[in-house]
Amino acid sequence: MSSTKTAYNFVLDLIFPKICSGCGKFGEIVCADCQNQIKIIQTPTCPKCGKITPSGQFCKSCKDESLLTGLLISADYRRGPVKEMIHHLKYSGQRELALPLAKLLVSRLKISKLRGQIVVVPVPLHIHRQRLRGFNQSELLARAVCTKLNLAGANALKRIKFKKTQVESKGKERRENLIGAFKCVDGEIIKNKTIVLVDDVSTTGATLEECAKVLRLAGARQVWGLVVARG
Ligand SMILES: [Zn+2]
Ligand SMILES: [Zn+2]
Repeated sequence: MSSTKTAYNFVLDLIFPKICSGCGKFGEIVCADCQNQIKIIQTPTCPKCGKITPSGQFCKSCKDESLLTGLLISADYRRGPVKEMIHHLKYSGQRELALPLAKLLVSRLKISKLRGQIVVVPVPLHIHRQRLRGFNQSELLARAVCTKLNLAGANALKRIKFKKTQVESKGKERRENLIGAFKCVDGEIIKNKTIVLVDDVSTTGATLEECAKVLRLAGARQVWGLVVARG
């Protein structure tokens, strides 16, 4: 880094000091102590019943209930600063948190050793929400994963229905709101590929399921969900 850049960053740090998302200490966006509290989930299990499966895919008894091949959950939502990091990324616009969060996704993805030609696809936000937020956090995560692992990526899905946020709507209403919410806009890149669908958090899995449906219809061979944590 050039000395001008270093000096510039030094001044920036004085005006906007970096604060740890986990403990509020000055200096880093995530301090080493908080980072050490995050544990990557090592055991691949069926997302539905928790039975151990080779890569974290749905087991034989659960697989008919899902259009996802499997769901890879990187870390525990409530352990260490994970929840706060996601929250600060989404609602305080701290884009730089996408990088340490993407590292968790990368670690989890490496454990699973997925086969086939992988294409990383972020869960899209509706254009209205993306304009309000200024970015799509899932896209930032997906891009960082592609860069780290040298994988192909595409904004292959578009959100065409604008509804209340997931937090505002519950259960059945949430699932109904999602029907027809997504559209595949790049069928060519999806066809016969192993899709890694990236989102920050999955709560009920309804969003990932709806996206998986659209991607399968567009010809994806497998669709894996990859999330930082289960909310
Ligand atoms: Zn900390
Ligand atoms: Zn199962």
